[in-house]
Amino acid sequence: MTDRINLLNLTPVDAEAQLASAMAELGEPGYRVGQVLRRLWVNPAASFEGMTELSTPLRAALAERFELPRLVLLTEQLSTDGTRKFLFRLSDGEAVEAVAIPEGSRVTLCISSQAGCALRCAFCATGAMGFSRNLDVFEIAGQAREMRLLEQPIDVTNIVFMGMGEPLMNWKAVSPTLTILNDPRGLGIGARHITVSTVGILPGIVALGERPEQFRLAISIHAPSDELRRELMPINTKYPLRDVIEAAKVFDRRVTFEYVMLGGVNDQPEHARQLAVLARECRAFVNLIPLHPGGSQGFSPTSATEIARFARLLRDRGVEVAIRKSRGMDIAAACGQLRVERLGRRTPRAADQHGDVQVA
Ligand code: SAH
Repeated sequence: MTDRINLLNLTPVDAEAQLASAMAELGEPGYRVGQVLRRLWVNPAASFEGMTELSTPLRAALAERFELPRLVLLTEQLSTDGTRKFLFRLSDGEAVEAVAIPEGSRVTLCISSQAGCALRCAFCATGAMGFSRNLDVFEIAGQAREMRLLEQPIDVTNIVFMGMGEPLMNWKAVSPTLTILNDPRGLGIGARHITVSTVGILPGIVALGERPEQFRLAISIHAPSDELRRELMPINTKYPLRDVIEAAKVFDRRVTFEYVMLGGVNDQPEHARQLAVLARECRAFVNLIPLHPGGSQGFSPTSATEIARFARLLRDRGVEVAIRKSRGMDIAAACGQLRVERLGRRTPRAADQHGDVQVA
């Protein structure tokens, strides 16, 4: 059984090639390839058995060669604001979260790229649980696929890699996942509607920039000086702010700076002034994020008035800025929170097991 090929781990081009050779071997007409290909992502089937447009023997023959693994939905929570949070179980018992956020005619799906996270940002619930493992392609893209398999399917229009994990430390899987999300034979989501969020993993930023598609880059800045950033984000020792800013400058598309507002920590007028300099240098768009309580302890949110004032200081200095609306406050819909709530905090693994940046 283990030698079956997982079609959901392949980009559409590769899946098509596998299907073409199987159909040829089975003496099936060429159009069957496209028929099955459509059932991977465009109009996903729960299993080969569900592909009722194919004959029973063909479905059985395909199931012998290929697999289409599902993610098992452990829990689903619906917020009063319409945000829906999903906790999926993976085959080895790991659990990852995805959050669907409706906004007007759009639905943004926030997906996870790792089980846990090695980075230990001080305010983040995922950081507190430590790193378990990288997700595979089918486990990342599968989060979006599962939305189409719900009893009432969700039509995802935008994707953000802002769930659990650091996508650019799992580039080996994230890169083909981007292809699947974007390809019309995959999920068909426009590249400009797909955002990769990173703490600033430099080789990963370069790799993303080398992709010809217009995928968007968001960088978690969170502090305008190395001194403060090091305290909040240990990764700053390896990839200091200055280098991250340089990388943002040479990235060929406009980047977004994410800045989580931590009461009394990074929300003072001098921080706004310093941040404005950096943002202007990169022509970055700044997204101010209200702290989601329930991350790590020890921080308090900046008040809405203070956030507005901070935003004004940036705007006065010619920086484009938006204040992110907090969503799903009643369902622990921030990075890692549902998993922590359900499964408890797990003992983190040693840092040397995290594996290094994987750039294909
Ligand atoms: N590792 C990537 C992507 C996952 S986190 C990154 O750090 O960018 C996505 C965003 O959520 C990041 O900007 C992260 O700093 C932010 N975040 C984490 N915990 C948060 C909390 N408690 N409240 C608000 N934002 C949080």
